[in-house]
Amino acid sequence: MKPARQIEPTEWMRAAPTRAVIDALSADGQEIRFVGGCVRDTLLGHGHDGGGHSDIDIATPDRPQQVIALLDRAGIKNIPTGIEHGTVTAVAEGQHFEITTLRVDVKTHGRHADVAFTDDWREDAARRDFTMNALSCTPDGQIHDPWDGIADLEAGRVRFVGDAGRRIEEDHLRLLRFFRFHAWYGTGAPDSGGLAAATAAAKLLHKLSGERIRNEMLKLLAAPDPAPVIEIMAENGVLAEVVAGAASTEILRALLAIEAEIGADPLRRLAALMRPSGNAAAAAKLADRWRLSNAEHERLAALLSPPGQIGADMKPRRLRRELYVHGAEQIIDWLVLAWSEQAGESKRFRSLIDAARQWRPIALPVKGADALALGIPAGPAVGEVLKAVEDWWIEEDFTPTRPDCLEKLRALASALD
Ligand code: ATP
Ligand code: MG
Repeated sequence: MKPARQIEPTEWMRAAPTRAVIDALSADGQEIRFVGGCVRDTLLGHGHDGGGHSDIDIATPDRPQQVIALLDRAGIKNIPTGIEHGTVTAVAEGQHFEITTLRVDVKTHGRHADVAFTDDWREDAARRDFTMNALSCTPDGQIHDPWDGIADLEAGRVRFVGDAGRRIEEDHLRLLRFFRFHAWYGTGAPDSGGLAAATAAAKLLHKLSGERIRNEMLKLLAAPDPAPVIEIMAENGVLAEVVAGAASTEILRALLAIEAEIGADPLRRLAALMRPSGNAAAAAKLADRWRLSNAEHERLAALLSPPGQIGADMKPRRLRRELYVHGAEQIIDWLVLAWSEQAGESKRFRSLIDAARQWRPIALPVKGADALALGIPAGPAVGEVLKAVEDWWIEEDFTPTRPDCLEKLRALASALD
């Protein structure tokens, strides 16, 4: 097949680790091509740093065992990430390459597929989800585009390869991927056929594994502006299948405006979408469904249950106390979300966040050893007395020095006798 376009190989294509992997895989004369996001992003002129925002996907007609043998022969570290689906990950200079054997899905089950390997590039392109994701590119820059993906990419049109309904039936995750890619690459309204098929299939989403939902949704939420597509998902009954109780994007939209100053964060965006009704129980439910890590679950739960005193009218003294108890990162998270809910108070929130950023952790100037030295018997009394000193020290706005605290400790110790 004639290539659709010739491009000048870009920096990531010429970089030493990429060359090493390509040379290893084509050592016996095989045709190797880049596929997926790296080709798409390169055509858009977006830098593709590979390691930073996503892996480099490579396709080969060789079977996985052969891929492993070729990488071993070249001394390139490799991991059999998904052998049964034909995927091996190569690691060169810390950079990851996902190498997948050309394949066709012979039987699909909505959640996974039985695959067969092939050496036909067109067949492999046909099983890919969207026309813009079915592009491939040789190491010297020849782009193959069997489904007019370049035209769709340039028009901002996320279009299924083949019949949208059937492709979603084969793998329900494609329904979420449709919205994810529209959020990143779409212009204007989503493709009407794709949207109708996605809407009709929304009820199938419960069959998907949590990990897959999590990955797609967090990538969707990381788009420069996910709000319009989230609204379309809500209007069409898709959002409720993956995020229960999200009623409006008002807080999310306010957060997106604020993020221009403070940086994007998909988990915080999710919390904004779940506010104001979302609480720790909602976080637990979502964490269970999406299989969030413990750290992600804890952060989401905290975001959805801020202490009442976090707000625009917070006094510096109160802020210091909360910073001491919860740490700057947590306080900034809460302040940003509170700011999204009280968007008129930007000036105050900016200065509270500045103050939180300048906060350096401090520790109570006296320790258990000081209590023991004053003759307090080892045991629960030590903790109780230290706690009393700490409460007083916080109440005094952290101004008492070590001698002041020792004196307080001494007074409390003598009261114990
Ligand atoms: P990203 O930049 O997020 O990595 P990507 O397009 O590379 O985007 P991946 O999830 O890494 O997305 O998948 C790589 C390629 O594999 C896709 O471009 C697409 O061709 C194909 N693909 C991935 N998931 C599916 C799916 N569920 N159905 C069909 N094709 C898929
Ligand atoms: Mg990828």
